[in-house]
Amino acid sequence: DAEVYYDDDADRSRIDDKTVAVLGYGSQGHAHAQNLNDSGVDVIVGLREDSSSRTAAEADGLRVETPADAAAEADIVSVLVPDTVQPAVYEEIEDGIEEGDTLQFAHGFNIHYNQIVPKEGVDVTMVAPKSPGHLVRRNYEAGEGTPGLLAVYQDATGEAREEGLAYAHAIGCTRAGVVETSFQEETETDLFGEQAVLCGGVTSLVKQGYETLVDAGYSREMAYFECLNELKLIVDLMYEGGLGEMWDSVSDTAEYGGLVSGDAVVDEHARENMEEVLEAVQDGTFAREWIAENQAGRPSYTQLREAEKNHDIEDVGEDLRSLFAWGGDEDAESTDEDEK
Ligand code: NDP
Ligand code: MG
Ligand code: MG
Repeated sequence: DAEVYYDDDADRSRIDDKTVAVLGYGSQGHAHAQNLNDSGVDVIVGLREDSSSRTAAEADGLRVETPADAAAEADIVSVLVPDTVQPAVYEEIEDGIEEGDTLQFAHGFNIHYNQIVPKEGVDVTMVAPKSPGHLVRRNYEAGEGTPGLLAVYQDATGEAREEGLAYAHAIGCTRAGVVETSFQEETETDLFGEQAVLCGGVTSLVKQGYETLVDAGYSREMAYFECLNELKLIVDLMYEGGLGEMWDSVSDTAEYGGLVSGDAVVDEHARENMEEVLEAVQDGTFAREWIAENQAGRPSYTQLREAEKNHDIEDVGEDLRSLFAWGGDEDAESTDEDEK
């Protein structure tokens, strides 16, 4: 089993006298920068001159420099700009990353697929909170933690893991627990999970369930409630107590029917398709496709996005959500910043 680290495992002296450049002030960036700062670590936020995030970072009392200047001054450079722009930003900062410095990530894509090739002599680590940034910040302020991952890709100084753990401590992750992984494992499981299950699998299941009911003559409203809205109740139960708590909470009819029909719907073909998705992640096919898609100005992505927006379930959902008041306020602010 993987190692799990907590507060007591971290030695904060590994980071307390260091300067950390946090590049980007978005979801993860604002949380890491403010948590590090509140933990007493010297922080510089790296943003381009015309960045729309500058005002926010400065209003939060943080020093802002260009990515190149921030990285040159820092001992640890935390790369928290979007994954698709990281290779270009790395070119701007590369000269300022000296031997003994650390390049720190929150996702392994660019390192694992060689879109960023760090110099020898530099430590390369990952501290990845398993949560959107606003929760990383909110939990820290509440004295609570956010579970996270720790990985070391390159350990030039022999101190990469210790320093990464200290960083995880300073942003509050060791309060909850930090699981040791590798850049490869984090990248491949993250991509597979979001494609096959979390973002891709679930939305396709919802759309096909909805279409099946509507095509059979049932009302769009009923189909929306059954196939999309109620999903939250089921997921909340699974989140709290695994599949067992969900099965215990639904009726015996739902449990029996679900056990019989679930595997019939998501059957061995779906499993074979999942294995293909995993292979494309593992052999780099997906990464190459996504990089090319970005280089070409995102033609397919734009089309797919548009088609998804125009699905009938979005239309009926918008109407229903404005007619009924639901969705507690405590969840409302997580909608646009949520992890992919
Ligand atoms: P965001 O999209 O929130 O980052 C936006 C920030 O990056 C803004 O401050 C923006 O400033 C800046 N930025 C964008 N383009 C550039 C550029 N070309 N040069 C300089 N700065 C730029 O990123 P996330 O926080 O979502 O992701 C950061 C990393 O964290 C990624 O590796 C991601 O995979 C990982 N991660 C994200 C999670 C999440 O919940 N979002 C969860 C776990 C990991 P500007 O105003 O200049 O555009
Ligand atoms: Mg430096
Ligand atoms: Mg993910």
